[in-house]
Amino acid sequence: MSQNNILEVENLNVRFYTYAGVVEALDSVNLTMRKGEILGLVGETGCGKSVTSLSVMRLVPPPGKIEGGNIYFVAGSNRHSVLKMDDGSLRKMRGKDISMIFQEPRAYLNPVYNVEDQIAEVLLEHRKEEFLKAAIETHRKKRLENLAKAKGAKAAADVEKIGKVSSTFEVNTYKKLARNPRSLAGRFLAKFSRQRYFKSEVRKEVVRILKSVEIPDPERVARMYPHELSGGMAQRVVIAMALACNPTLLIADEPTTNLDVTVQAQILNLIKQLKKNLNSSILYITHDLGVVAQLCDRVAVMYAGNIIEMTDVFKIFDKPLHPYAQALLESIPRPGQAFKSIRGLVPSMINPPKGCRFNDRCSYAMEICLKIKPPFFEASKDHYVACHLYGEESK
Ligand code: SF4
Repeated sequence: MSQNNILEVENLNVRFYTYAGVVEALDSVNLTMRKGEILGLVGETGCGKSVTSLSVMRLVPPPGKIEGGNIYFVAGSNRHSVLKMDDGSLRKMRGKDISMIFQEPRAYLNPVYNVEDQIAEVLLEHRKEEFLKAAIETHRKKRLENLAKAKGAKAAADVEKIGKVSSTFEVNTYKKLARNPRSLAGRFLAKFSRQRYFKSEVRKEVVRILKSVEIPDPERVARMYPHELSGGMAQRVVIAMALACNPTLLIADEPTTNLDVTVQAQILNLIKQLKKNLNSSILYITHDLGVVAQLCDRVAVMYAGNIIEMTDVFKIFDKPLHPYAQALLESIPRPGQAFKSIRGLVPSMINPPKGCRFNDRCSYAMEICLKIKPPFFEASKDHYVACHLYGEESK
């Protein structure tokens, strides 16, 4: 694995076992992502973009199964093989090292909890210790202030010297709160005792995160429920949840699909801004080539469960090599020109064509295309294409 890569997907195969037959959703997918880049994963609906992203989190729902390949992810100085991780390590990784923004924010938000509780849940899963320390420290300061007021500054300084400020009972109470703030004991302690600093530390962080995604009046929004939020606001809240632990890799699965054009532009600007501030890598899934042109550094084009071309954003728009990528770009509507569609239909993934899966729609199809699946060829520096036109046989 290159030092510069944050994610490597090698020969990934995913199948869905349905009553209609076996859906070959991903067929030997290869993908690399570099540190700090935005990689656009582009393709028609049903080509396998979302299945690829769910596989990276190991969240492919049944009847889907990851049946082969490798996924390597680098967090800090550690390189993990995602498909070999145990459940505990996976839970730690999800939400902290890799997090995801889903398509439909309202379906993702829990309608019975307010925004603060939902963001706090992510924070407490991964950053509990941090809040525990902050709460004990705030409590200690408060106790010293009260002591100074009651007995003078010297008495407070003496107590601080011997360190008898937070009792074992108080520290244990914070720990109980950190373990489960929603439990009856947790709520009781927060309400009736002085051990409420823990909750207030978490609340401060929730408000800070909401501010970072440009939500106006974050204190008020933190108390709101999902049904009280507009579409754009709900998506910002979902982005806030995804960013709560500063993930190394953020997967954004068509996050602007159901938003109107102005809100879409705001969310795209926000994602660009966040990438600059957080230095995370972003896997941006979309079928919108306009979004790719605005946002991405590199692009991987998918067709029927395969990555068919991968290069930087300028090359893909300037000189796409794969016949499908060429047809996709030609099908962008242009003022004053007749609309060009790609002939034929996307093949059934239950019984996909042998060889190249694009062969029944391709004007350049050759004998070899009907029999052998094209591997990735490096057509020029950093420009990979899976098409026999660029292989040794056609030279
Ligand atoms: Fe067309 Fe053959 Fe290339 Fe597939 S491999 S895109 S069928 S030329």
